[in-house]
Amino acid sequence: MIIEKKKAFNSFSAKKGLRSTRQRDIILDFFLSTHQHISVEELYLKIKAIHPGIGNATVYRTLKLFVEAGLAREVLLHDGQTRYEHIMAGEHHDHLVCTGCNSIIEFENETIEQLQNEIAARHGFMIQSHKMEIYGLCASCRS
Ligand SMILES: [Zn+2]
Ligand SMILES: [Zn+2]
Repeated sequence: MIIEKKKAFNSFSAKKGLRSTRQRDIILDFFLSTHQHISVEELYLKIKAIHPGIGNATVYRTLKLFVEAGLAREVLLHDGQTRYEHIMAGEHHDHLVCTGCNSIIEFENETIEQLQNEIAARHGFMIQSHKMEIYGLCASCRS
């Protein structure tokens, strides 16, 4: 799976005429090996511990590139913070985002997906992508 993502990114880079750089490869490795929903800062700190030459701005720009390549997706927290997760083409899920502790719960629901398609069809609208982030309090923040 990680190999497929690397291949996908390499072909994206080639199409865009980007030369592959060692820093970008390192950032991709760290990003793909991490748990989901990581912030730029968290990823940067992980990388910095081993590769102090890689700056925060480089990590930020590279993550944006991963999003453009379809390899990563942004998750917006209620306070405007952004987290990143890696996804495969065709993979889809939505999020419950806790406004108390910023934890993120993933869910998938066939009925919701189906309803979205029906609504779009009713409006003659062609869906290219969608994301749903529902904000509220998680079970442990409620107790
Ligand atoms: Zn919470
Ligand atoms: Zn997710």
